[in-house]
Amino acid sequence: MVVTSSTTKLKLPEGSKGVLVKNLYLSCDPSIQNRMRKFKVSSYADPFKPGSPIIGYGVAKVLDSGDPNFKEGDLVWGLTSWEQYSIIYGTDTLFKIHHTDVPLSYYTGIVGMPGLSAYVGFYEICSPKKGEYVFVSAASGAVGQLVGQFAKLTGCYVVGSAGSREKVDLLKNKFGFDEAFNYKEKPDLDAALKRYFPEGIDIYFENVGGKMLDAVLKNLRDHARISVCGMISQYNLGQPEGVHNLMNLAWKQARMEGFLVVKHLHVHLKFVEFVLPYIKLGKIVYVEDVAEGLESGPAALVGLFAGRNVGKQVVLLSRE
Ligand code: NDP
Repeated sequence: MVVTSSTTKLKLPEGSKGVLVKNLYLSCDPSIQNRMRKFKVSSYADPFKPGSPIIGYGVAKVLDSGDPNFKEGDLVWGLTSWEQYSIIYGTDTLFKIHHTDVPLSYYTGIVGMPGLSAYVGFYEICSPKKGEYVFVSAASGAVGQLVGQFAKLTGCYVVGSAGSREKVDLLKNKFGFDEAFNYKEKPDLDAALKRYFPEGIDIYFENVGGKMLDAVLKNLRDHARISVCGMISQYNLGQPEGVHNLMNLAWKQARMEGFLVVKHLHVHLKFVEFVLPYIKLGKIVYVEDVAEGLESGPAALVGLFAGRNVGKQVVLLSRE
């Protein structure tokens, strides 16, 4: 990184149009893994270049700016790099933080990209109605914990799956899910879903894919909606698992629709105005798992794929 230093203050090179930031929090997101391939898997992001820092969402403080949209001292969230300081060019993925009455780390999660994913994927894709039956996988994670709470605010019955007893306990006793189960203890997922949803599922918020998706497809109600946010169980497989029960979409006149949150960033301000009052009133709660120091980042990221994170995984670099 090219920065010149006069006394102790870091400055941009003369004439730079970039934004020089000090990174404060980095977000561990499963999608980072999708950019560690040799080929492009989605329309919006190229594979990382070996030898360059990982690019991901984070929270930062502006130290110097050649971009008129930002000034020294601004707090920002958006795409940055896994390093102490970054120069960010182009401002369509960097946003000023206007509300500082919640912890800054929340902008990597509940009021950042994962929160927006829960909002878009649940409200905009599924159009939930009071009394509907909702199922959420990876339910205690960054996205899932919020989807479950949105479902309860809407007056739905909501069940979550997660990979440990501790997480199941969180779902029921902290996030207010009606029921929750440990999918690792349920070899027969179809039977588990039939037990929790004797009348079937109206809305499935998909975070994991694979066998869970196949079991859900067998338990849909008429006109069910499946919001495909992610399929983390498939990301590390050389060959993705086949899905066998797709015909149920036709039999149940159901709809399955995916989304990319980066295509919905324009809704972020509306989302923040919606969610902040609930957070401040304690009507929506949030659990994050904070790893300290840049050197703890790689293990924290890999831990997502073993379910080691309890809540949103974030890496703290500096509090200010
Ligand atoms: P989480 O905080 O939920 O962390 C990932 C969790 O996935 C782990 O804690 C683990 O929980 C679970 N998991 C890991 N491996 C498996 C597996 N093989 N089978 C089942 N569960 C597994 O992550 P996020 O909330 O950030 O992301 C959730 C999903 O949403 C991901 O698929 C992600 O890619 C996707 N996403 C998509 C976006 C979009 O724009 N479409 C935007 C943001 C996220 P457990 O212990 O319960 O197994």
